[in-house]
Amino acid sequence: MTVLATLSARTFVLALLLAAGCARLGAQASPFAVDNRTHADIIPVVSREQSTAQPVADLILINGRLWTGSSSQPWAEALACRGERIIGIGSNADIRPLAGSKTRVIDLQGRLALPGFIDDHTHFIEGGFHLLSVRLRDAATPEEFAQRIKGHATKLPAGRWITGGDWDHEQWPGGPLPTRDLIDRHTPNNPVFVTRLDGHMGLANSVALRMAGITKESKDPPGGTIVRDTKTGEPTGILKDDAQSLVYRVIPPASETERAEALKAALAEAARVGVTSIQDITPWQDYESYKAFRDTGRLTVRVYARTPMSQWKRQAEIVQKQGAGDDWLKLGGLKAFMDGSLGSTTALFFEPFSDAPNTSGLMVDDNIPEGKLRQNIRDADKAGLQCSVHAIGDKANKMLLEYFEDAAKENGPRDRRFRIEHAQHLSPSDIGRFAKLEVIASMQPYHAIDDGRWAEKRIGPVRIKTTYAFRSLLDAGANLVFGSDWFVAPLSPVLGIHAAVTRRTIDEKNPGGWIPEQKVTVEEAVRAYTSSCAYAEFAEKKKGTLEVGKLADVVVLSQNIFQIDPGEIQKTGVVYTIVGGKVVFEK
Ligand SMILES: [Zn+2]
Repeated sequence: MTVLATLSARTFVLALLLAAGCARLGAQASPFAVDNRTHADIIPVVSREQSTAQPVADLILINGRLWTGSSSQPWAEALACRGERIIGIGSNADIRPLAGSKTRVIDLQGRLALPGFIDDHTHFIEGGFHLLSVRLRDAATPEEFAQRIKGHATKLPAGRWITGGDWDHEQWPGGPLPTRDLIDRHTPNNPVFVTRLDGHMGLANSVALRMAGITKESKDPPGGTIVRDTKTGEPTGILKDDAQSLVYRVIPPASETERAEALKAALAEAARVGVTSIQDITPWQDYESYKAFRDTGRLTVRVYARTPMSQWKRQAEIVQKQGAGDDWLKLGGLKAFMDGSLGSTTALFFEPFSDAPNTSGLMVDDNIPEGKLRQNIRDADKAGLQCSVHAIGDKANKMLLEYFEDAAKENGPRDRRFRIEHAQHLSPSDIGRFAKLEVIASMQPYHAIDDGRWAEKRIGPVRIKTTYAFRSLLDAGANLVFGSDWFVAPLSPVLGIHAAVTRRTIDEKNPGGWIPEQKVTVEEAVRAYTSSCAYAEFAEKKKGTLEVGKLADVVVLSQNIFQIDPGEIQKTGVVYTIVGGKVVFEK
């Protein structure tokens, strides 16, 4: 065993694989090519003892259509894992001999398997809180809205807050805003503050208004509106933008137990929709929750945690002292904001909004006074941390590209992988700069089919052409990655792929696609959710493709999305989700 002792664990497993009679090695007739590099590496170091080695797989998938994402072997039928890693991939005949008496063998019955989906942008634990709360997103009328709140309140102890909700009054006939009168009688003992799905307004019941001290006499705070009854002048319960903080400050912070419950719910949702890794926007208290789950083996999604850039030193210190983390939980990225959002007319543009000509958006806290963010990026980059910044409007994106260019010049060459989160509205002249400056475009396709319903009235027919410019970015050589922005949009990557490929708005009013010239192919969308996304968190050597030695993160779908009509993609379900060789979801 002296030879073996010097081998890496990976090589050892490969050696066993060879010894186990893996026919794929050297089998020229097989359509499933051998990774020659690996083969050559391994042959000279196989020792005799292994010729008696037993099959080694813990889990085997056979009879599948495995899209590997690797150019050397794009398709396979079967895959074997041992521990957390893939130890073999090839034809059924190649992989079957790796099964032992304790191996679980899953017959995929011809289904499509892909590398596990990686989501480029989540607010994961917040998403869990929304799952546990009342669901109002698809409440079709004010009455249904009220009934759902009533139903939820009966399950709660007196005094417990009801928050979240994600209601959308635009769905209701005539689109009236809800009022506290709708819900007061159903919630006499629970304070309520449920928010619209964009988070820019919320409805408080009378209990919550009382706790927040909001009365007829209260003045509107700067940047916010307390909506009032036109006849009586009494608050209706609707609080817009910064007026929401009047209520937020009286809502007690979630306890550790509540946070853990939310994380558990979020993990179940991720498993259900095939997400095996997330690139999270992580408040420090969420990081603690992830750590607690990681330490007790309860994480079933891999977390790349991006903490607030304004506190970059805190992260730099941890990384320096303890390292960035492991394959389950890793620090290394930071997140900041340049501007607001299109929906609230706060995204920063060069020209005013078409439907709000008195404003062209605004810069937010992270860059007030202007230039603060430029400095933070320089410093954090110098400390070796990855910078991701939210930019929506064309001006915000251009300024940010300049900040990135500056920092790179100042700090010298390094593998830094700057990211722009959303990169939603781009000046045509900036599209090529993503590739040139090696800035990753981190985008969320579901937003395109959501905003696409009304974006043109806000920014007009010219700017709309380079909105969610997936195709232009790819053609210009940019690294394009996809995700959800959950809880703001649904977590499901299948819905994201559907959005990127069809660009059919959710109101079904653009059957041929909204700005159809910006569509991408299914394969491009899948790459943006797998290998490209792995690159965006410096993990392309570990995951994002199905290859021997990589983490066994796999998703199996109910339909072959490469073959079906693109309009059908959204009906595709997840049949299995496998993370680190463990089945974490099965239908
Ligand atoms: Zn976000």
